[in-house]
Amino acid sequence: MFELAGKKIWVAGHRGMVGSALMRRLQTENCTLLEAGRQQADLRRQDEVERWMDKNRPDVIFLAAATVGGIHANSTRPAEFIYDNLMIEANIINSAYKTGVSKLLFLGSSCIYPKFAKQPITEDELLAGPLEPTNQWYAIAKIAGIKLCAAYRRQYGCDFISAQPTNLYGINDNFTGLMSHVIPALMRRIHEAKLEGASEVVVWGTGTPRREFLFSEDLADGLVHLIQHYSDEVQVNLGCGDDVTIRELVDLIVEVVGYKGAVTYDSSKPDGTPRKVLDVSIMKNMGWSPKVSLKQGLEETYRWFLAQPHEQVRGLA
Ligand code: GDP
Repeated sequence: MFELAGKKIWVAGHRGMVGSALMRRLQTENCTLLEAGRQQADLRRQDEVERWMDKNRPDVIFLAAATVGGIHANSTRPAEFIYDNLMIEANIINSAYKTGVSKLLFLGSSCIYPKFAKQPITEDELLAGPLEPTNQWYAIAKIAGIKLCAAYRRQYGCDFISAQPTNLYGINDNFTGLMSHVIPALMRRIHEAKLEGASEVVVWGTGTPRREFLFSEDLADGLVHLIQHYSDEVQVNLGCGDDVTIRELVDLIVEVVGYKGAVTYDSSKPDGTPRKVLDVSIMKNMGWSPKVSLKQGLEETYRWFLAQPHEQVRGLA
């Protein structure tokens, strides 16, 4: 088992949903946590990353920094999605090698798998077919990150691993609307419809795509388990192994929010991949599975959302 106690750990991207969940989870591991704020290092700039790494010398890195967004963000900001993510990964992974970081965990994304991958998706589906076009930019960058970890492991013997999370949601998610993933986008829209007494909420797509969702706090716990117990090249899937249709998800959000109006589906908006559910056998065999059900996770996320200042949720803060 790889020991975290006593180590200097850098969570790159500590303000995001994944990074902040990791910061909370790692507080119980008796380690020193490092942060690199935007003013200290722009992670897209090699010189800034190298300077920060030289000065702070982490033993362990969780690479959770990324430019992220939902289906609309991916299709309208392709350059940012591919450039930012390639630069962040390449800079951090190369300087981790140069400064002798003892373990690094890189986070991929379930969109790295082919659009028509066999379901549930096993790890060996990587590069077995064409990608979903709407998020190919992000996917290509994330595949490059996984391959960087594998290449540094092969050539230099670095203990760099990759985790492959399914669709995520939870505390500190991006609720700004147009650029958000489906859960925060719909939770906010349905919440606002409830407040306004609107008679209808419009959901994008047909409602038939199937997605698997993992709660942020479960993900953080899974990542800690993975870094402690795994050391190999293959990116390891992290999910719950169950999926729901977007329609079923909408019904749950409507219930959690307490919205009484109607829901309609706008099929002129993209559906994206028809189905995405991960095979989670490797994590199960390592003795880990998530603890929070989708309903509980949505309730907890909604409680957090209600406690945020209005401006922050709208992305104005
Ligand atoms: P994906 O899993 O990479 O496709 O990312 P998303 O979380 O953006 O979208 C998941 C699914 O939810 C897609 O089928 C969307 O069409 C559907 N969806 C329905 N309403 C919304 C919405 O308001 N925002 C987003 N982002 N997706 C929505």
